[in-house]
Amino acid sequence: EAAALSRIGLAGLAVMGQNLALNIAEKGFPISVYNRTASKVDETVGRATFEGGLPLNGHHSPREFVLSIQRPRSIIILVKAGAPVDQTISTLSQFMEPGDAIIDGGNEWYENTERRIREASARGLLYLGMGVSGGEDGARHGPSLMPGGSFQAYGNIEEIVTRVAAQVDDGPCVTYVGEGGSGNFVKMVHNGIEYGDMQLISEAYDVLKVIGGLSNVELAEIFAEWNRGELESFLIEITADIFKVKDEHGEGELVDKILDRTGMKGTGKWTVQQAAELSIAAPTIAASLDCRYLSGLKEERESAARVLDEAGINGDVSVKRSRSIEKKGLVDDVRQALYASKICSYAQGMNLLRAKSEEKAWNLNLGELARIWKGGCIIRARFLDRIKKAYERNRGLANLIVDPEFAREMVQRQGAWRRVVGLAIEAGISTPGMCASLAYFDTYRRARLPANLVQAQRDLFGAHTYERIDRPGSFHTEWTKLA
Ligand code: NAP
Repeated sequence: EAAALSRIGLAGLAVMGQNLALNIAEKGFPISVYNRTASKVDETVGRATFEGGLPLNGHHSPREFVLSIQRPRSIIILVKAGAPVDQTISTLSQFMEPGDAIIDGGNEWYENTERRIREASARGLLYLGMGVSGGEDGARHGPSLMPGGSFQAYGNIEEIVTRVAAQVDDGPCVTYVGEGGSGNFVKMVHNGIEYGDMQLISEAYDVLKVIGGLSNVELAEIFAEWNRGELESFLIEITADIFKVKDEHGEGELVDKILDRTGMKGTGKWTVQQAAELSIAAPTIAASLDCRYLSGLKEERESAARVLDEAGINGDVSVKRSRSIEKKGLVDDVRQALYASKICSYAQGMNLLRAKSEEKAWNLNLGELARIWKGGCIIRARFLDRIKKAYERNRGLANLIVDPEFAREMVQRQGAWRRVVGLAIEAGISTPGMCASLAYFDTYRRARLPANLVQAQRDLFGAHTYERIDRPGSFHTEWTKLA
């Protein structure tokens, strides 16, 4: 009978679970699957059969599901984050035995994982919170996996996850991230960076379309061309494809018919909240979150456009779609502005990871995290290899901007970057992500900021004291008496 046992189990067979289960089975690891609603079990079994008899066993009973897995058991859960995970754990864990492991693959809040690690360990169970990125296609053909928690539980599934993950030139896109909820936290920051990338790309599109007057056909060509250079990435690639899709219900391309209101599920907000908690500046990621909020105010924006139009806004702010804008030069500038802005956004995400790592003693290896993002995930990009190497050169690198190679690239691109932002500001085309990145760069690189004046004000009205540049100690001045 023992020979019939599965190597691993997976519970939760929606988009992610179904595809990850098929991926695991395809790599030759017999897998048992379970879902609260039985029809999804049958559907998954059907797909496994259809795809050539993959070694996948479906179970309707949670008890039989758990008992069908070889010990020590490893069970991946892929259900909606929050209470559904607790409910699934309670359904399954009653049949699990000490030494068995639960692996939550959802986009879970890291503190929930830390609570569950404690609860599991009280019952002798091991626990991993494993970020999974790459959407449906990644799950099926090779995701980026970010497991954190029990190192022993990781050891039990290492041979599976290293086969199942996306493979890049320097290995599988998986690594043991660290203890506690570190795997979920890293996935959360990955998503925050993804928000930033998508916002920056949308701004590049806006500038090229509105100021440059580029058509969808031209945009598709330009993004495809960018995807052959330093910007090469999944998001640039799919953007090129999006511009090509025709509208089935009318004239032109589908992209122009899509309502300009962005959805979101919370990981971007968590990233910005965590950055604030840890006193880490993450203005590009925050700007992308704010833009999602503002995009949601569709009716208000339409009415604001009307009010300000009537007030004569277009007298002062005019979109200069004049022939004086030379398309090729603009395209080249926007490409460089996008690249430089992106470096600043990644610098923010990486510094958030480092701050959390210090707070929690996770000992995160930033270079290794950049490596496992090189394939499988939504932010996969050629330039992640450069980030990996920057941290390899200097593990204590204070900021990506001051890595000698990135510093040189930023300087090379700053002229184009400032031109694009300047042009957009003049034309009244908002580029909050690019502006936030540029302001971040200009603030970080300046040895002296006007913070002296803020300190003086604080001391004046609140006696908060100040330090001096020329002598040690803390000082207070009776400003109003001296003025
Ligand atoms: P989902 O829509 O988030 O969740 C659906 C699954 O959760 C179904 O299997 C459902 O079971 C189960 N479920 C919901 N409430 C339950 C409960 N109270 N008890 C037991 N099971 C319950 O599925 P998903 O899109 O595949 O995502 C799974 C996880 O991966 C989520 O945390 C998600 O954030 C994360 N993720 C998703 C993507 C993506 O591209 N979709 C990418 C990366 C990460 P029933 O069939 O019985 O309703």
